[in-house]
Amino acid sequence: MLYDNHGRTINYLRLAVTDRCNLRCFYCMPESGIKYVNRKDLLTFEEMLRLLTIFGELGINKLRITGGEPFVRTGIMEFLEEVSTLENIHQVHITTNGTLTEDKVDLLEKLGVKSINLSLDSLDRQRFFEITRRDEFDKVMGTLHKLIDSNIKVKINMVVMDERNIEDILPMVELTRDHDISVRFIEEMPFNGTAGQGNETLWPMKKILANIQSHFPTLEKSPDPPFSTSSNFHIPGFKGSVGIIAAYTRTFCGTCNRIRLTPQGTLRTCLYGKGQLNFRDLIRSGASDKAIENELRTALGKRAKDGFEAEKNREDEVSESMATIGG
Ligand code: SAM
Ligand code: SF4
Repeated sequence: MLYDNHGRTINYLRLAVTDRCNLRCFYCMPESGIKYVNRKDLLTFEEMLRLLTIFGELGINKLRITGGEPFVRTGIMEFLEEVSTLENIHQVHITTNGTLTEDKVDLLEKLGVKSINLSLDSLDRQRFFEITRRDEFDKVMGTLHKLIDSNIKVKINMVVMDERNIEDILPMVELTRDHDISVRFIEEMPFNGTAGQGNETLWPMKKILANIQSHFPTLEKSPDPPFSTSSNFHIPGFKGSVGIIAAYTRTFCGTCNRIRLTPQGTLRTCLYGKGQLNFRDLIRSGASDKAIENELRTALGKRAKDGFEAEKNREDEVSESMATIGG
């Protein structure tokens, strides 16, 4: 098993397979995009599979594929087929913007993908366009409906943004009336690829909750599964559930079981911290499996207690795009 220096078990890896994306969500990237990593500096799928095999033997059994947009990377479906054969990875989850996903849902279901988090910040075409800066609303809605009809568990991720999509909160909750889906509202974080983003969120969890409760007074708290990042709720009689992710106020760090690998192979033991070490360089310098294991254990032995400590420990300001970290 893998443990950090605070006694927390680490069994969950979030793997960003690319930093490239076909949307320009304004909370994630500037309109002009970000400077992408050179292709030769990205982890190859072969390198990822080697790391997954090593990490799997050490106790990583849950994997999230994210990015950037995972489905823009050529070869992703073949990679997911390989991942589905890895003995120790028991759960594969994917986070996607849904623009290129609809026609892949059947195969993803066959490969045993456990859940898909679909990022959808508005149910209104115009607001969707203003947030993502791309006219892809129909494709994302097509993916949503295809997912609802599949056996894959569906979660909608909606970043809550003042003056952008507050009017979407209630219609999103309404979606849980007839559909067995989970709608999760995420506090906006300062990861939009530019510096100087201020140090507060205008829609913290408490405010999101109050907004929902004022219109759905029967909203009830549900038990939160272990290691859950969302605080979970449901409305009696509704098929689905509602979650709020305090990504900015960081109330869930105490039980964090996650590590991240960026597209170029940098290990991040906390979303808010700087990268700890680069596995691509280690692999390309000929490191053995044991050396890779040792480096991972050393990094986990110096893990920050929470996102606030991780942020304090870095010399620079949080300013990178979420697409380069893997949200
Ligand atoms: N492209 C895929 C997608 O959008 O689902 C996967 C990568 S995206 C970086 C992963 C998640 O991070 C998305 O749900 C997105 O909404 C969230 N995210 C990105 N930037 C964020 C920010 N500044 N604050 C909160 N969530 C953010
Ligand atoms: Fe792309 Fe996802 Fe970032 Fe939006 S949130 S720009 S879809 S990586």
